[in-house]
Amino acid sequence: MRSLSLPNSARVDLERIVRAGYPLETCGLLMGRESNGHVKVERVLQARNLNRERAHDRYELDPQDFISADERARAAGLDIVGVWHSHPDHPACPSETDRACAWEDWSYVILSVTRDGVRDVRSWRLSRDQFVEESVSRYVHGNSTNPHTTTSVHRGCWRGARGGGDRRRGA
Ligand SMILES: [Zn+2]
Repeated sequence: MRSLSLPNSARVDLERIVRAGYPLETCGLLMGRESNGHVKVERVLQARNLNRERAHDRYELDPQDFISADERARAAGLDIVGVWHSHPDHPACPSETDRACAWEDWSYVILSVTRDGVRDVRSWRLSRDQFVEESVSRYVHGNSTNPHTTTSVHRGCWRGARGGGDRRRGA
């Protein structure tokens, strides 16, 4: 199983941005390194969500932000390793739109957020047109991986969705 590690500092940044943006969707890029299927995030950046009409449930990354993030990553000796975005009041599972817009080889981190804060952080990666979940681990700094790695493949995607059977697509 592929995995992604998120340092505490990046996680704190993400939660702050996502909570501040609620109830709108926020999005951005992940800077880090990848080796042997393991992605190590070093920094997160926020990007503008160009989709203003449906900013509560869609995101469209500003290409200009992508270009400047790519330059910053290179300058820091890092790569863009993926995208993150929030799902206000919805589970941290990719929608059909997310899948259709995703690129191979990138990690797609989704944060489920409610007005009480971030409920869940999960990461997905496209494989033959399907999203496969990758485990998310946290580390404080250096290489100390938290032994309580979150392995969430068996949790299912729609548990906890608002209204129980709400299988709305396109979040
Ligand atoms: Zn989404």
